[in-house]
Amino acid sequence: MSAELKTSDSSKSEGSDGPRKVYIETFGCQMNIADTELMHGVLHDAGYTQADHADKADVVLLNTCAIREKAEERIYGRASQLLRYKYENPNLVIGITGCMAEHLKGSIGERAPYVDVVAGPDAYRRLPSLLEQAGDGDPIIDVRLDKRETYEGLPPSRREGVSGWVTIQRGCDKFCTFCIVPFVRGRERGASPREVLRQVRDLAAMGYREVNLLGQTVNSYRYEDVDFADLLRLVTTVEGIDRVRYTSPYPVDFTPKLIQTLAEQDKVCNSLHLPLQSGSNRVLSAMKRGYTVEDFLRITDDLRAAIPDIAISTDIIVGFPGETEEEMQATLDVVERVGFDYAYMFAYSEREGTFASKRMPDTLSEPEKKARLQRLITLQKSISKAKYAAHVGETHTVLVEGPGRRGPERWMGRTEGYKLALFEPPDQVAPGDFVDVVIETATDHTLYGRAVAHRPRVNAAKA
Ligand code: SF4
Repeated sequence: MSAELKTSDSSKSEGSDGPRKVYIETFGCQMNIADTELMHGVLHDAGYTQADHADKADVVLLNTCAIREKAEERIYGRASQLLRYKYENPNLVIGITGCMAEHLKGSIGERAPYVDVVAGPDAYRRLPSLLEQAGDGDPIIDVRLDKRETYEGLPPSRREGVSGWVTIQRGCDKFCTFCIVPFVRGRERGASPREVLRQVRDLAAMGYREVNLLGQTVNSYRYEDVDFADLLRLVTTVEGIDRVRYTSPYPVDFTPKLIQTLAEQDKVCNSLHLPLQSGSNRVLSAMKRGYTVEDFLRITDDLRAAIPDIAISTDIIVGFPGETEEEMQATLDVVERVGFDYAYMFAYSEREGTFASKRMPDTLSEPEKKARLQRLITLQKSISKAKYAAHVGETHTVLVEGPGRRGPERWMGRTEGYKLALFEPPDQVAPGDFVDVVIETATDHTLYGRAVAHRPRVNAAKA
């Protein structure tokens, strides 16, 4: 990035005195949604306001994810759709941010010359100046990774919702062979406890009663001598916060101290997303996951011994290069043995830039991968069905999100185990309230019931 900074006020629309409006479209995971809040915060401080649609914006940013299949094509397709707004407003700035920035920087000039800015995940502090330089020819590219950047001191601009997200850790040191994250998000670093607490207190003051602590391997968090268990204890002391979640932990980073902390802290939800990926030791080793099936089973057993009602979900990839029928069966066996409450299941597909894509030929045919995935889905559905059915007759506290998708007769929210619950709402219910719901029926992905108690949130500042 070599262009000199302009000195004009970048937050003003060209030809108008009003502030420039920015629209950010987010792809991918919770981490990216949290980064969009961060970018909105940075741009708000620089004088921008938020547009509610791309056609009303002076700046449109696509906050990208490199994890999904065909992600690059999807982003180029979406960027070309934005071109029509540029015909209507030649001063429109189009930018690409996030995980795909590093990857796209070489091809952007040729494939999408109308893209003005490319900014990687560690460049968001500099967004206002990057946008200021945009539009004078070549795209402005800033994809430098910064192993110290945790965005300390920047106030994110929060989205609507009842659960506030706080990124406590950026980057990843694990280098799983199928994953691009360490290359595009850099090395692992933790935000300071002071910064985490500042953000959690801000969320509580806004009326949020639940926080979700985010990191690629969140339980390997460390800042000086504070580890993840210590941080959890600190976060639970914040007044107004009743539920604390965290995602996604890494199996072998569950220490006895952390398990004990989870068991002791009532505010930490008894819900855990623990990626298994495969039930075969050879495949786990080829994935460079750093644990064996035996390790994984020991950890889930220890967690269940300490927290008997903990809900455990997972991620699984089938059809990894070289996966045999026996290895596929081994995955099914582990899924049955652990009994996950629910799972995100994928057929393997290569991600450009990963070790696996360069060194491990994708050996299985697509129909074979699909067939394996279907077997896994069928098994998991039957397990989920039993897990959800086991809640019938129980009473669960639900954090209310709002009316269900099919109308106001039923409202929706999440139980402590992060299960979706639909319920007949009590009078005066509002998003952010807690209701106790008696579960009457269940499917393999939803609980249905009726509210029998209602605790409106005390601080309704956000409502
Ligand atoms: S732990 Fe593995 S899968 Fe998760 S972000 Fe890091 S490299 Fe990717």
